[in-house]
Amino acid sequence: MSIRSRKFTLTVLLLIGFAAIFYFDLFLAIIGNGTENAETNTSAAQLTLTAAESEVSEVNLDSQTLTVVQVGEEDIVLYSQPDTGSDVITTVTHGEYLEYIDEINSWYHVVVNDQYEGYISSLYSEKAVIDVAAPATSLKNTTVVLDPGHGGQDTGAISNNGSFYEKDITLATAKIIKNTLEAAGCTVLLTRNTDATIDLEDICSISMQNQADFFISLHYDSTEYMNEASGTTTYYYYEKYEALAEAVNDSLKYMLPLDNRGVEVGNFHVLRENTRPALLLELGYMNNDYDLAAFTTENYQQQVAEGILDGMKEYLAQENEETGR
Ligand SMILES: [Zn+2]
Repeated sequence: MSIRSRKFTLTVLLLIGFAAIFYFDLFLAIIGNGTENAETNTSAAQLTLTAAESEVSEVNLDSQTLTVVQVGEEDIVLYSQPDTGSDVITTVTHGEYLEYIDEINSWYHVVVNDQYEGYISSLYSEKAVIDVAAPATSLKNTTVVLDPGHGGQDTGAISNNGSFYEKDITLATAKIIKNTLEAAGCTVLLTRNTDATIDLEDICSISMQNQADFFISLHYDSTEYMNEASGTTTYYYYEKYEALAEAVNDSLKYMLPLDNRGVEVGNFHVLRENTRPALLLELGYMNNDYDLAAFTTENYQQQVAEGILDGMKEYLAQENEETGR
């Protein structure tokens, strides 16, 4: 509904409300019941006011803040009622962000990952008001935060011959993606530009403070035994970002020479404790010689960049179509 038609509806509602009160008063005055008149009058006025208020709060959906609840350092139980004796719906993961509805005593009434509604103890979770930017509609007003996985003391996975570190390849890949996305008009930030260790909390803060439209953490995978697995995987955590994960993964599948292992839910800190649309890409296996030979080339990393760019374009087009933007 447009704002204009909403205003019109509101005006009509108010007019109907006032007319109803006027004629009801007239009717009560005629039958001469003074006391009841006053009470009925109030409740009719309150009804009108409630209708007006609900219209106003709908208009405020464009508001720039959102109330969320973040689970503390332990996994906790989601109950069906604000009562430890009520049914257990599920367990919510430490650090996860939940949608806040309201609160009662020491309970938050929340929605978990668009799937479950219930109550969690406010003793083990924290309410926060976060800034939310309007979603990007084109690459020109898109902020992308790229996170080159690992760094500094944390080398990440190591190649079979011991000469390649994951932390170096993620940084090289991030720089190539940055150039490609900037050329397409995006604003791009890296969580690190050098061989430094960045705390996972700080990585999430960079994503949230800059209100990233897309946060992408870059990694190269590893397994217990050499050359046992090959290919790329796209991870997301929150249900609402599954469509983004699918769009980027489809595009990487088309672009990259390695096998595509699909889209999966990944319980990673940088996805879970991040309120922005976030993905984690595993772009091949460090301990697979075939994968390593492919992804250590600039050509492969450029294909990753093109894949991410095309995936983002496709996702924005889908979103614009859905919202009629
Ligand atoms: Zn990694």
